[in-house]
Amino acid sequence: MNSAFQLFCRLARKVRPHVPILLLALFSMAMVAIFTSAFALMVKPLMDDVLVQSPSATAYAVPAFINRALDLFRNSPIGHQGASLPVLMLLIIIFFFKCLFAYLATFFMVSVGQRVVLELRNELFSHLLEQSTAFFHRHQTGRLISRVTNDVEKIQMAVSEVVGDLIREGFTLIGLLCVIFFWDWKLSLIVIVFVPIAIYPLVNFGKKLRSGSVRSQEKLADISHLLSETITGHRIVKAFTMEDFEREKFQMATDRLFRVNLRITRLVALSSPVMEMLGAVAGSLVIFYGYHQIRSGAMSVGQFTSFLASLIMLYAPLKRISRVNATIQQALAAASRVFEMLDTHMEIPESPDAIELGRTAGSVRFDSVCFSYDHHPVLRYVDLEVKRGEVLAIVGLSGAGKSTLVNLLPRFYDVTDGAVLIDSIDIRKVTLRSLRSQIGIVTQETILFNDTVANNVAYGLKNMNRAAIEAAALAAHAHEFIASLQRGYDTMLGEKGQTLSAGQRQRLAIARVILKDPPILILDEATSALDTESELMVQRALANVIANRTTLVIAHRLSTVRRADKIVVLAEGEIKEWGTHEELLNRNGIYSKLYDLQFSDAEVAVFPERGQRIRRSRA
Ligand code: ADP
Repeated sequence: MNSAFQLFCRLARKVRPHVPILLLALFSMAMVAIFTSAFALMVKPLMDDVLVQSPSATAYAVPAFINRALDLFRNSPIGHQGASLPVLMLLIIIFFFKCLFAYLATFFMVSVGQRVVLELRNELFSHLLEQSTAFFHRHQTGRLISRVTNDVEKIQMAVSEVVGDLIREGFTLIGLLCVIFFWDWKLSLIVIVFVPIAIYPLVNFGKKLRSGSVRSQEKLADISHLLSETITGHRIVKAFTMEDFEREKFQMATDRLFRVNLRITRLVALSSPVMEMLGAVAGSLVIFYGYHQIRSGAMSVGQFTSFLASLIMLYAPLKRISRVNATIQQALAAASRVFEMLDTHMEIPESPDAIELGRTAGSVRFDSVCFSYDHHPVLRYVDLEVKRGEVLAIVGLSGAGKSTLVNLLPRFYDVTDGAVLIDSIDIRKVTLRSLRSQIGIVTQETILFNDTVANNVAYGLKNMNRAAIEAAALAAHAHEFIASLQRGYDTMLGEKGQTLSAGQRQRLAIARVILKDPPILILDEATSALDTESELMVQRALANVIANRTTLVIAHRLSTVRRADKIVVLAEGEIKEWGTHEELLNRNGIYSKLYDLQFSDAEVAVFPERGQRIRRSRA
């Protein structure tokens, strides 16, 4: 799908809605070309009538329309002031229009490009939002970000600058060619022979640039990825004292980018001087010829100067068009990446006759559920039932499939076999939106958005009043610390805002869920220990959020497993044991071993229901 022509057609389709503005731009560009050529012609009267004032020069007439325009001035009072004023007046008027249309052409063209970018960026973002968890797992964050930012920007350049330059300079090129042919068609033909010689290396440069640009973008995306990895994982890097390792990895990545960019720079830098050199040789030959023409009386000084001026002016559009090629190649590479992403469809499919899931009672059943990631089986024939309002704790070693299991409920992934049912309805038969509205999720890492505390708590909910938000925060034991922030509920959070402790973030996440008030709750308990006071607050908040909700919790805390109505032990993707805490401990199986491993360190366990801290003793 990535042939240059197909890419071009797809881009053209994006431009189609903006054809009226494009036409205005094209008209302005044609006018720029006409006025530029008129200026080139004006060099003749400027030389012959104003500067040299050679009487014989009138034998070599300028085109009729220039003469007519000049006559307008010659017959006006200005004309009586001498031969120079009409020529200069006309020059100024020509320049005025050339500049005016140049402004309009650029403005219209860039605005088309920006409109295309606006739509493309929004399209890409909503496409991203639609994608499944598997998609985000497969694509590096840095690369995805670079598609929506850098690549789209490159396409804008293509549409505004490239198309603009190509057409405007193309028109100008044609206009100036007409001028030189008008003065001396034989010499013009000879000059034109030089053009293909100049163009050949450009085409070659272009090809190399295109492949270089693809590699450069890839290397840059690698750097973005490394950056986002290190920034989000900075604590891990520090904890493992991997600074030197990360530094070296980063330096290697920047070095690779540097090399690729250097190669591109060499090509870009070379293309202009090559053109200039060719121009110099051609120019000297032309002047040599002109000298003889003037001496033999075949041309006037003004006529030859106009010819020469047009020739020199031809260089600018040629040079620009050669640059355009480089930008086109870069933009096509970017467009191919953008379209590739738009063509990747990893959405969770929604059945065409999906029904709205109303407010559920909240009973959850896993029916012979099997799940594989890309043919790698993770869950095997899992049967589970959680009744309305029950708390199910899922325990198991890391990698046992706990997260995978709970991710099936909001359909972040779909089962490979079997079914997940809510109130006996297969969740694939209901709309994603209504399904997810019934589920609240509190993960280990709380994501806070760059917004106020109130809006972070009310995330995803429309028209929430302040009283409801405060009530949720109160139930989540977050009200007190929020009230102590400088601007209370209006304090900005997120990247550029107030920083909160891990415990405070968790309580905000809990407030979010309390406000959303879903009948079903998925809880991924944080493995990292909080200080005892925070821990106590979080546990109390959790007790409030769990009440009256069907809860599936990936448990890491003794207090949680004790409180659970049922515990399942996952190992190698299967449920190996189930029962209550006491039952499982007495069985002396995997759970009791896990208990030693995961819950039996000398950590202080918190029992909020008793409101006191006790040092856990072995059961
Ligand atoms: P747990 O939550 O118990 O630690 P997970 O459900 O995260 O376990 O992982 C279960 C298995 O599935 C592990 O072997 C893990 O490597 C694999 N896995 C998890 N997520 C993905 C994914 N997106 N793609 C491929 N394999 C995955």
